[in-house]
Amino acid sequence: MATIHIDDSKPFPYFPAEPNNKRETFADFCKRQETGLNIVSDEMEQDKWEQAEMQELMKKSCERKKALFYDNLDLILRHRDEIRGTPRYANIDAHYLVRGGGLYVGPLSLTRRYNFAGTPVNINLKLSTLLEVWDNAQFKVECGCGGTAVIRSFVGSPLSGGSQATAICPCCKKEIHVRNRNFGGYYGLLRIMIDRDIEKVARNIAARWTHAEVNYGKKVAEGKDAKWNKAGSEFYGDGEFCNLETMINELKMKEFKAQCEAEKL
Ligand SMILES: [Zn+2]
Repeated sequence: MATIHIDDSKPFPYFPAEPNNKRETFADFCKRQETGLNIVSDEMEQDKWEQAEMQELMKKSCERKKALFYDNLDLILRHRDEIRGTPRYANIDAHYLVRGGGLYVGPLSLTRRYNFAGTPVNINLKLSTLLEVWDNAQFKVECGCGGTAVIRSFVGSPLSGGSQATAICPCCKKEIHVRNRNFGGYYGLLRIMIDRDIEKVARNIAARWTHAEVNYGKKVAEGKDAKWNKAGSEFYGDGEFCNLETMINELKMKEFKAQCEAEKL
């Protein structure tokens, strides 16, 4: 009688040992099942669901902010110089306000997610940068009402250079369709601008850390007790944080006060 010998010490079919090869032998599978240990645990699944819920909430928040922004586009453009000159306004996240992408190149991401020593950091297109982008002729369209509309979405092809875009008018709020402007003019400029914002943030952090080390060194040199702290105690970020909602309210208040003053005269 023939004996069938099953060698289960190797996965079947045989897969070469690769660092990412998670396939296990049948014997290992049975042993793992006995202990009740899953490759993806319930806790891992739970975290995945929670992250997905937070992402969903973030998406809804961005949609609401986007609607608020474009409802107040006239107010924001009236104060463009003030926004650019006020760091707490200039640095407001604007990555969700413009959408663009093309064939072969995919969607253009105006937010970049990093992992620094296990710490997640997001760097986004800044509001002042978006206002600067809108200063370019490529991103402006004359509206029938006499106002100047700004581009807020585009698609196209880097090969043919063709594109379709939509602009919104701050005066009459009408959406205008714009055809066949050079695709590279949209995509290339925004790419350069997000890269510039990333550089700005990275240099800011590097400069603040250098400053922290210098300050700490000075304290040590002055003979101050440095036993219970390190340069990390001297590390500070920018001042006050401001969100879009606060900025819009502050600008409205400012215009209201100016109107009241004008009425008194
Ligand atoms: Zn208009």
